[in-house]
Amino acid sequence: MKLALNGATTMKADLVTDIRAAEAAGFDFVEIWASKLRKYLVTHSAVDLRKLFDQSGLEPLSINSIEHVTFRGPDDYDAIKAECEELSSLAATLRCPYIVVVPGRLPEQAPSLEEIIDESVRVLTDLGTIAERHGVALAFEFLGQADCSVQTLELADEIVRRVDRPDVGLVIDSFHFYAGGSTIDMIETLAPESLFVFHINDAENLPREQLQDSHRLLPGLGILPLAEMLKAFKRIGYDRVASVEIFRPEYWERDPFELARDAKAATERVLASV
Ligand code: ZN
Repeated sequence: MKLALNGATTMKADLVTDIRAAEAAGFDFVEIWASKLRKYLVTHSAVDLRKLFDQSGLEPLSINSIEHVTFRGPDDYDAIKAECEELSSLAATLRCPYIVVVPGRLPEQAPSLEEIIDESVRVLTDLGTIAERHGVALAFEFLGQADCSVQTLELADEIVRRVDRPDVGLVIDSFHFYAGGSTIDMIETLAPESLFVFHINDAENLPREQLQDSHRLLPGLGILPLAEMLKAFKRIGYDRVASVEIFRPEYWERDPFELARDAKAATERVLASV
């Protein structure tokens, strides 16, 4: 499996530092954190960034992310579509294959399962049509937290199957997989080509409902069923990329070059154990 460094892991470093740290550590890909990209573009162009990737020997894997795309009011939804257009155009220049999109929070008046599926399918179809014009694909990332409208792999996969476009697929994030109660069986029934991005991380030993992003750890240091997940990926034939994505404030204070090295070594140890 190839390895990516996600810009959330080194949240306080800028985009150029992310690329340099990932290159020095020997990663294959970088997942670009969108706010770092916007900051970079204040003084540079997307063409400059593509040159930086060429010089580094790394490739961009995705831009992370368009947040809360579903269950939005009309003005917010227009802004989401504009953001999709903007990031898709940038991704095309960068030759970056994916944009990560995240479902919205559950509305106050709880929708039925069918309403969640219908809304998600409608939005992913709209956004997929925008991204397609730029030759870019969308990777839909369910979140395990209880306020998210799509909390499990089973539901996210059902939505992506109903969208039925080759350019709309899934993200599995090991933290959200565990926190939302997804099961290994839900991996077994996946079409491997629909899994676009795998976010790998571990988590502290806390009850599921207490787990927050800040409890994430380097792979192998926590209690997530990473070995079981990786074995299931092997069985279905997914072996493309694992991307280290950790939102741990303690890590953000570390030297990003050192952290990137540790992240790569930790991930390789876990991958080698299965
Ligand atoms: Zn993630």
